[in-house]
Amino acid sequence: MTALGDQGPVAVVGAGPAGALLALYLARAGHPVTLYESRPDLRRTDISAGRSINLALATRGLVELEQLDLAERVHGITVPMAGRMIHDGDRRDFQPYGTRPEEVIHSVSRRDLNAILLDAAEATGLVDIRFDHRARAVDFDRRVATFAAGPDHRPVEAAFGTLFACDGAASAVRPHLLRASGGEAETEPLDHGYKELTLPAGPGGTHRLDPNALHIWPRGQFMLIALANPAGDFTVTLFLPLTGGADSFAALTTDDAVHAFFARQFPEALELIPDLVAQFRVHPTGHLATIRTRGWSVGDAGVLVGDAAHAIVPFHGQGMNLAMESCRILDRLLGQGPGDVAGAFRAFEASRKPNAEAIADMALENYHEMRAAVVDPRYLLQRELALELERRHPDRWADRYGMVMFTTIPYAEVEARTARQQAILDELTAGVTHLDQVDRARADELAVSLGPLPEWE
Ligand code: FAD
Repeated sequence: MTALGDQGPVAVVGAGPAGALLALYLARAGHPVTLYESRPDLRRTDISAGRSINLALATRGLVELEQLDLAERVHGITVPMAGRMIHDGDRRDFQPYGTRPEEVIHSVSRRDLNAILLDAAEATGLVDIRFDHRARAVDFDRRVATFAAGPDHRPVEAAFGTLFACDGAASAVRPHLLRASGGEAETEPLDHGYKELTLPAGPGGTHRLDPNALHIWPRGQFMLIALANPAGDFTVTLFLPLTGGADSFAALTTDDAVHAFFARQFPEALELIPDLVAQFRVHPTGHLATIRTRGWSVGDAGVLVGDAAHAIVPFHGQGMNLAMESCRILDRLLGQGPGDVAGAFRAFEASRKPNAEAIADMALENYHEMRAAVVDPRYLLQRELALELERRHPDRWADRYGMVMFTTIPYAEVEARTARQQAILDELTAGVTHLDQVDRARADELAVSLGPLPEWE
């Protein structure tokens, strides 16, 4: 059994949200860390390709920021979103996310959040960040990683004792680690892709839509969404089938086709984004997949963390939150068994894999909810009833969205609890078209029968 550092230097590969946060946790525990990142320093180089990419930060990501005294700084760069604004033809319907004022999610620039984490990691004095270092191969027997460094991609070898692979969904370290651990990765590509566009600010940096809502234009098989940035602009994302008919990326190959598609499906976007067609032409079409892996660690030599271990589709706004939560749990496990790194890594996979699988499934389900169900009368009736049950029985009932976004109840328990609650909603709304017709006595009885909500992790 060994402690971290016993076998040699501690390396973290990938300085995204998971790698930067994990480096910070490790430094806080007193470990010197070398953090390798393939790209240049995003604090000094614009690597955004002109786009403003943002993410929804929820409780699971905020807990770590609070633990590391960074929440206040991050709140300075976020825009709170209290619910969804559904754009259905000319109608706009605001659906609150929670029942309490603090139940909001936060739109945050991926770059700005990452910059805060990198600054904090460097400020510990224990994290040495090597930008422009792309991991190419890792030999876990010899404990040597090979990087392509600098503009000329010169090969650099680095010895390590323990390597944390945080290099994202397309991890270059993962195949080497899985070969050594005897594990495997399974990729389920989604047949829908995405494209990000920027909706510019109005005069004087004003927001041209309500900034405190996540805007959704649901269209059944696809959707457009928009999240506000503090400077007045919005990041807009089109999620659309990759192939199959007029409403697919495959059909949008000319400016005329793009214009006609938006005029037909999202005329508001054409009005709000004057250069939409030009942006569409130059911005890449992104692909999405769920990646499930097994065998996350090789003794005390290495472990997969974040998207490298579990990439999920973005429809619950949880990939980064999941990755950040994983860093906190890994830090806790390493702290609980400081003399047994390999044991901590095994416990990490045992604890996180079922939860990553659960949120992977829930994220896929939420795509259907966002693009179609949010305008379905039965869904809306059940949602109204669920919110009422939550108000009446706050210690018994919490809807799935709320448990995922506003608690740290383990995802697997959220999924199991949601299934029980859904069965209750189905029973109470069978043959019912209006909330007034619901049998309230039975509703109370069933809500109480659920027992207390699961504990937060
Ligand atoms: P990454 O963010 O991918 O970071 C990996 C880092 O490793 C990067 O800095 C990369 O440059 C570096 N790297 C890669 N390869 C190498 C290499 N070979 N050597 C060295 N360094 C390397 N999540 C949310 O929580 N909320 C959201 O609203 C949300 N929206 C999303 C929307 C879209 C369209 C997509 C695609 C994802 C979204 N996500 C969201 C998911 C989120 O982006 C990821 O889950 C999160 O970024 C994972 O963090 P990570 O650090 O594990 O990986």
